[in-house]
Amino acid sequence: MRWHRRLTGKVALIGVSFMLLLGLFLSLHYAHLKKELLHGGVERAESLSDTIAASILTFVFRAAEGGALIDDLLERVNKNSTGVFVRMVHSRAINEQYVEDATEQPMTPEEVDSLADGTVRAYQTDAAFVRVVPLHAEAPCVRCHDNPDGPGQIPVGYVLGLVVTEVSKAEVEAAIAELAGDTLLTGGFIVALMVALLVYLSRAIVRPVTAMTRTIAAVADGDFGRRIELVRNDEIGELSAHFNTMSGRLKEMFDFMRRSNVELTGEVTRQVEAVRQTRDFYQAVVDSTQRIILTSDTDLVIDSVNVEWERQKEQYGLEIGRDELIGRPLAEFLPEGQRARLLAVCRRIVEGGAAGRDIEHHEEFDLTLKEAHRYFLLNIGPLIDSENRLMGLVFVATDISSRKRAEEMLRVERNKLNAIMDGMGDAVMIVEGESTVTYMNKLMRNTFGAEAVGQRCFEAVAGRESPCPGCHLGQQERRAVSSVEIAAANGRYYLATHTHVADVEGYPSVIGVYKDITFRKEMEDELRLQTITDTLTGLYNKRHFFDRLEREITGGRGASPLTLLFLDIDKFKSFNDTYGHVEGDVCLAALGNIVRGAIRDHGDAGFRYGGEEFTVLLPGAGAEQGARVADRIRQEFGRTVFTPEVEGVRQAVTRTVSIGGAVYEPGESAGTFVERADNAMYTAKRAGGDQVRFS
Ligand code: GH3
Ligand code: MG
Ligand code: MG
Repeated sequence: MRWHRRLTGKVALIGVSFMLLLGLFLSLHYAHLKKELLHGGVERAESLSDTIAASILTFVFRAAEGGALIDDLLERVNKNSTGVFVRMVHSRAINEQYVEDATEQPMTPEEVDSLADGTVRAYQTDAAFVRVVPLHAEAPCVRCHDNPDGPGQIPVGYVLGLVVTEVSKAEVEAAIAELAGDTLLTGGFIVALMVALLVYLSRAIVRPVTAMTRTIAAVADGDFGRRIELVRNDEIGELSAHFNTMSGRLKEMFDFMRRSNVELTGEVTRQVEAVRQTRDFYQAVVDSTQRIILTSDTDLVIDSVNVEWERQKEQYGLEIGRDELIGRPLAEFLPEGQRARLLAVCRRIVEGGAAGRDIEHHEEFDLTLKEAHRYFLLNIGPLIDSENRLMGLVFVATDISSRKRAEEMLRVERNKLNAIMDGMGDAVMIVEGESTVTYMNKLMRNTFGAEAVGQRCFEAVAGRESPCPGCHLGQQERRAVSSVEIAAANGRYYLATHTHVADVEGYPSVIGVYKDITFRKEMEDELRLQTITDTLTGLYNKRHFFDRLEREITGGRGASPLTLLFLDIDKFKSFNDTYGHVEGDVCLAALGNIVRGAIRDHGDAGFRYGGEEFTVLLPGAGAEQGARVADRIRQEFGRTVFTPEVEGVRQAVTRTVSIGGAVYEPGESAGTFVERADNAMYTAKRAGGDQVRFS
């Protein structure tokens, strides 16, 4: 059974069940209401009769004309209440006493009983709910009804009469009938609603779902063009729209597949054609190449040869034609000297089978053909089909005679070049790639060792880990010719002249010529030293003093102090005047030696400031340390005995020195700094000389 039929069944089942439940509910409800109504009739009779009885007993006894009041009350009640009838039944005594035409009142048996026993009675007749309430005589009643002029004595408790209330059943039944009508109407209304709902459900769900099921089944059967008619805007409509989109996509996909299939067929045809053309192409290549290409089967019997054979056989004086070649054993055509070896190679390839696919043999050999010496390159390789089976062997013979000759010429040229290079008085090397040495001439090899070839030039020549300072080799910037002085690892200096020859794979190829300039360098250093040295004392000169001082100051003195000593020999003029300038120079040289000996090797420096004035720079030393150095110089100098001759007689003479010191103050100029030390020296001198004073 299709699922949508089940759905219809379910909807119907729900409808029927609902209606049965509704019927049950309505009938129960009706019974309940009917009971309520009936009970209401009884209650009405009860409350009315009790009220009336109470009214009579409360009000009537006070009136002289009670009987008339009662009648009036009853008349009003009866007039105003529909479906209710209240009447009075008098007791025999009251009847006789007050009723003028005292005819015997007809009474029901219940009324007779109530009059007799004074109890309330309720019952129903076919037409009404009846309640009989007795009126008992109370004390005030006895006042009138106990009248001695009256018919007789009436005791308290005597039943004066009955209030009979009849509530018409017709009224209640009419209400019940109305209720039945209402119930039926409600039931009918709900049933109608239910039917409408079922119709709606059937229209809103079952029918669209059925339509959808049919369309889905049609699409599943391959009718991709089928669509669900979209008439609704709810979830089913949305579902249908999604389904339509999906089947639309399916259709597109199938259309695409159909198209692809057609295209694929076309493509296969084209490929087949291309393969055919490729084969023709390769055949053309094979035929047009200037190589002899020959194939054999696995028994080494020739089965094809390209047309080049025809072209070349003349040239080489081979007499056999291309057609005659096919079917002949390959061995016959191999050069005699190489035959056994080449056959062994072929057999190795055949034995390797498909696994021998990687065995390819290349070999060069030379033959004398038509009295000319010729070189050939022979390649032997396996022929393997698409299923990886060995089909045979392929032989490609290329005449490489002209290449060989060119190589030979090149070798001769290279040898000549090497001879020239090795004869040169300068060291020469070629640097290529990433600063790699690729060639060294004899002098270069002798100087730096032949093993430098293959090393980085800066490692091999300068023993450095990075390029030499100032060298442009290996950098992006290309210079046709550049020069750089190189401090070599062997302790010598070279002027390297690099000539950029070419760029190979993005790197410069450079020829470097290395001239030994050690002597010149040494001379230059010597000269430089001379320009800053005082020849008499061996200390630095005044110019260098200011250079050094400036450098120390601008070097930024942070935590490290800088002390300057200013020295001046005491009464030196008289020494000169007495012993002459030569002896004076001896004295100056002696102080120079003392100064040199008193300071540390590194950093500290002594200077001849001028005449018999000296300065000492002590970087890193403070006043205390500076004073110590100064005092050492002062004492040493004071102890030094000079032995000038005066008129052939040697004298023993000493001199003293006054020393002023200053510690550099940040921000101070060189001039001020020197002035402070100078002033301190004068202070020492004024105090008698041979002293050390600090500013
Ligand atoms: P003071 O105690 O005040 O320093 O007296 P002083 O005589 O040393 O002072 P002064 O500066 O007047 O004399 C310096 C002398 O040094 C003058 C000159 O004869 C001498 N002198 C300067 N340069 C040289 C030199 O190169 N060689 C020699 N032998 N003497 C020199
Ligand atoms: Mg002086
Ligand atoms: Mg002096």
